[in-house]
Amino acid sequence: MNIKREMWDAAAEGLAPAARQALQLKGVQSLLAWVKARSPMQRERLAQVDPADVRTLADFAALVPLSTKDDLRAAMDRIGSALPHLCVAREDIVLSGPSAGTSGRQTYQAFNAQDLDRNVELAARLFWCSGLRPNDVLQLLVTPFTPAADIFRLGAQRVGVKWIIRDNHEPTQVPRYVEVARSLEPTFLQAGVATLRAMAQHAAATPAGGALPHRRAILMGAALGPEARAQFRQSLGIEVTTLSGQGSDFNLFSTECEAHDGEHWHGEDMTLVEVIDPTSGAPVGEGDVGEMVITDYYRRATPHVRWRTEDMVRVHPGICRCGRTSRRFTLLDRLANRVPVRGTAVYPFQVEIALSRSEDGRNLEFALMRKADEPQKLEVRLLRPSTLTDDATGTAVGQRLQHHLDAELKLPTQVSFHDDLPRVGYKTLRVIDEPRD
Ligand SMILES: [Zn+2]
Repeated sequence: MNIKREMWDAAAEGLAPAARQALQLKGVQSLLAWVKARSPMQRERLAQVDPADVRTLADFAALVPLSTKDDLRAAMDRIGSALPHLCVAREDIVLSGPSAGTSGRQTYQAFNAQDLDRNVELAARLFWCSGLRPNDVLQLLVTPFTPAADIFRLGAQRVGVKWIIRDNHEPTQVPRYVEVARSLEPTFLQAGVATLRAMAQHAAATPAGGALPHRRAILMGAALGPEARAQFRQSLGIEVTTLSGQGSDFNLFSTECEAHDGEHWHGEDMTLVEVIDPTSGAPVGEGDVGEMVITDYYRRATPHVRWRTEDMVRVHPGICRCGRTSRRFTLLDRLANRVPVRGTAVYPFQVEIALSRSEDGRNLEFALMRKADEPQKLEVRLLRPSTLTDDATGTAVGQRLQHHLDAELKLPTQVSFHDDLPRVGYKTLRVIDEPRD
């Protein structure tokens, strides 16, 4: 294997935009015919859509309705099946599982052999882009029961990695992850940002000191500013890149390249991603923020047609200097994480960025309180770092951070330290709903 290759698949990843759009148009046309012929749910939903009328990608956006997770849940009830979107015979399914959804009723996705092969190929592209190489030993900390866990393992194997140390990602197991890392010396870590932060804290508190063996990490669960990345490099000697995307329904992810200018969407030749204004449904321009809508036309088992992800992304303008022509996104937040304050609204990503610009706040975990009655101040709860033990220093740091956030967010804030913050899986719950009193 040529480990000097710059991209995993230069032909696909460096595709000219016009060629890509031609592939996408052909892909969505054949997908429409495929799902209408095979899925009872899609037959109902797309009854008014004639695939022959879709002659351009603009036609596709204009004629085909958007779909949501709630549409899928409703179809599960109506049709009496956990897989009302299934378009292949059950015996052709090679991988299926629950989405790791954190709210509402469980939904499912399935892959046939061809779907799996292509999805693994996309995972190989993302790993290569993040610097994983055949001689690496990978410590893989992801939710073990989801299809994504299989895809990551197979994707890493496809780039040539032989040794993969697998584990879950549970806040209570952090001491084990550190112990295993020190014993087996993996060179590459895949984990949630909060997990690496907790591992670093735990490692620093042990007699052996702060060192972890990894040279690189691919981190999930938050966008990192350049300052936070630099801190991981300086304090742990780990080069970090971020991964975000659509684990629960798609197993489609985007990752940064060495340019760190947004995360490359690795499946431009196999999927159609639209970014829309969540209120009007109209497409947003380069550089703007909108909701990601995905049609994964390469899929045959449970493809999605114009599926609203409820994820807000920023589209990075222009072509990246790494040579990949894929669009780059920064995943900003879930639509559902909007916190109304004083006649406006704040998203957790804005607080993450603001904290990363402060020496005291960098890489601190936090949660925002959302009140039933819109408050005049934004309440920000910070996880107390293990280094902050005495109360007087804690109060002083809290006050400094409050002034900093007031200025950055242009809103009055109320900052406090807490010994524990609620988590969902490897993620700190960023928005806590406070009941009306
Ligand atoms: Zn790039």
